[in-house]
Amino acid sequence: MLAELGWIAFVPPVMLDPSLRTIALSVKGFMPEQEGDALFEAATNACSLLPHLPMVEVGSYCGRSTVWLGAVAKAHDVVLYAVDHHGGSEENQAGWEWHDPELVNAAGRIDTLPFFRETIRRAALVDHVRECVGDSHEIGRTWSQPLSFCFVDGGHGRNVARGDYLAWAGHVAVGGTLAIHDVFEHPEDGGQAPYEEIYLPAVRSGRFVDVSHCGSLRIVRRML
Ligand code: SAH
Ligand code: MG
Repeated sequence: MLAELGWIAFVPPVMLDPSLRTIALSVKGFMPEQEGDALFEAATNACSLLPHLPMVEVGSYCGRSTVWLGAVAKAHDVVLYAVDHHGGSEENQAGWEWHDPELVNAAGRIDTLPFFRETIRRAALVDHVRECVGDSHEIGRTWSQPLSFCFVDGGHGRNVARGDYLAWAGHVAVGGTLAIHDVFEHPEDGGQAPYEEIYLPAVRSGRFVDVSHCGSLRIVRRML
């Protein structure tokens, strides 16, 4: 139709570049492909709505989700700050369900930082992804830049999740987007902390409204 009218429609791609997709899918982590694509689309929209503002990811692990978000940062020439202490969440520790012995360092501790760095290097995202190594609550408390997009995928304990909400939601600019991973409304589907300590407080605050969801990924936008 547009072609018949003599227009050339240019729609920017809302899909991850195939070579980056191959890298993302090869990285250890917990971001399903479809949800990574939904994250990419939400971040792309956020960067279009609020250009020039940085993005934050809370919980990078080995950098799997960071590839989707870093690609958006690169396309919009903004910085993605990737926040993680790289010591793993409770459920990543030895004896827990999501423990991976390959991530244990010579000192016997989980250390995902070398894996994260290698992912970002392979994906050629070093100029647009800044590692912020430390406790997400501490980093968030002293943060000063408003964000177009904040993706929270950190620890799933109640106190950790609540602390991430308190530390980061206020840094999302009005019109900006908060994305929350592992949100399960029903206890039979998964842990309740991201739902009860991040998603519900966000919408109940009256400042955030639902935009979309994909699997356990919830996208809300700051209106006030
Ligand atoms: N987004 C990743 C998965 C993140 S797993 C992916 O796509 O695969 C959760 C991460 O949160 C872990 O790497 C863990 O080290 C980090 N984390 C948990 N609690 C944290 C805290 N309080 N401060 C900083 N990082 C934390
Ligand atoms: Mg997750």
